[in-house]
Amino acid sequence: MSLDIAKGILHRCFRCGYCKFTFDFTDFNCPAYKKYRFESYSSGGKMWLIWGLINNELKMSENLAKILYSCTTCGNCVENCKFEKFNDFWVDIIEAARAEAFKQGFGLEKFKTFGEHTAKEHNPYLESHQNRLDWLPGDVKMSDSANIAYYVGCTASYRQKKIAQDTVRILNRIGIEFQLSPEEWCCGSPLIRTGQTDIALEQAQHNVMLFKNAGIKTVFTSCAGCYRTLKEDYPRKFELELDFEVLHLTELLERNIEKLEFAKLLNKTVTYHDPCHLGRHANLYDSPRVILKKFPEINFVEMKKNRENSTCCGAGGGVKSGFSDWALEQARDRLLEAKEVNAEILVSTCPFCNRNFIDAKNEFNIDIDIFDLTELLVEHMK
Ligand code: SF4
Ligand code: SF4
Repeated sequence: MSLDIAKGILHRCFRCGYCKFTFDFTDFNCPAYKKYRFESYSSGGKMWLIWGLINNELKMSENLAKILYSCTTCGNCVENCKFEKFNDFWVDIIEAARAEAFKQGFGLEKFKTFGEHTAKEHNPYLESHQNRLDWLPGDVKMSDSANIAYYVGCTASYRQKKIAQDTVRILNRIGIEFQLSPEEWCCGSPLIRTGQTDIALEQAQHNVMLFKNAGIKTVFTSCAGCYRTLKEDYPRKFELELDFEVLHLTELLERNIEKLEFAKLLNKTVTYHDPCHLGRHANLYDSPRVILKKFPEINFVEMKKNRENSTCCGAGGGVKSGFSDWALEQARDRLLEAKEVNAEILVSTCPFCNRNFIDAKNEFNIDIDIFDLTELLVEHMK
C-alpha cells in the first residue's frame, strides 16, 4: 500500500472513533489511545494526520513521526472500524506513513540502527549471521530431503532460543521430518513495521529463493510475526510468488493432532493469549486452543478479551524497542486480565509476546507462569 493509493481510501474515515474500543464499548482496546488519551493517537486520528500529510496540509516532523510510531500495529482498529470495505488497510496505511517518515529522515534512531544491521547481518539484534544456528542442539534429527522447512526467525534464533529448541524436539518426538537452513535471513517484519521496506524486500526475496531452491513445499514458523510476514506481506505487499504454503507450528501440530501423546497431567488453570499477528492479522485462533485442550486434566479458561477482541501484549510494531516502558505497561495489563480469570499459566505462541510478558511479570512482580506453547508441550509430552 502506497500513500498515493491510501489517498483514495482515507477520506472515507469519518472520525466516529469506534476503532479505539472493544466490541462491546466497555473499554479502550487501542493501546496507543489507552496510553496517550489524545484522539490523534487513535487509528481515526492517525488517518486524519496522514490525510493532512498527503494533501500537504501538514509537514512530517519529529512529533508527527512519534505519533505514527506510537502504534503496536495490533489491528484492533481493523476489527472495530465499522467502515468495512476499507478498514483492512488501516495498518498498511500506518506502515506506509512510517516509510514516508523514514524517507524524510524522521525514523527513530534505534530503528535505523537495527535496519542497518539487518542489511548486513540479516537480524535486528546486532548479532553475527554466522551464529544464527548456535541454538541448535547436536542431537536433533533433520532431513535434507524433507520438503517441510522450519523458518526459525531472529527472535527464536538469538533471544528466545528455548522456543526454537522445543519446536525441533516436538517434531522429532512426533516423527515429522523437516529441514532448516543456516542461510535463512530475517523475515523482514521489524523493518516492514517500522517503515524500512527496501531492506525488508531484500530479506524477503532471499528467503523465497532459499525455499524454492531447496524444493520446499511447506514452511512453518513458531513466531506470530514471521508467520504474518511470510504468509501475508510476501505475496500482498511485496507481490512475491510463493511456491510453498506457510503454516504456524500450531497448524502443523493440529494436522498431526493424533500423534501428540502426553505423559504428564496438567492440573492447572490455563489461559491463552492471542498474538495480534496470528489472530487479528491472520485469523488463526483455533489451532492453539485445539492443542491446549488436548492436555490431560487442563482447566482451560478464556480471558474476558479474547480472539478478535484480545488485548495486545504491547511488544509489536517497534514499540518494544522504541517505547520499552509503554510495552511493559501494556503487557502488565494483559497479565492482570489473566489473573482476573484465576489463570495460573498464561500461554502464547509468539516469542515476542513471551519475552514481553516475562519482562512485565518480573518488572511488576506478578504471580503467574508464562509459557510458550512449545515449552508446555515438551514438558508434558511423551
Ligand atoms: S478508522 Fe474507522 S472507526 Fe476509526 S474513526 Fe475512522 S471510520 Fe471511524
Ligand atoms: S493498530 Fe492498534 S495501536 Fe495502532 S492505531 Fe490500530 S488499534 Fe491503535
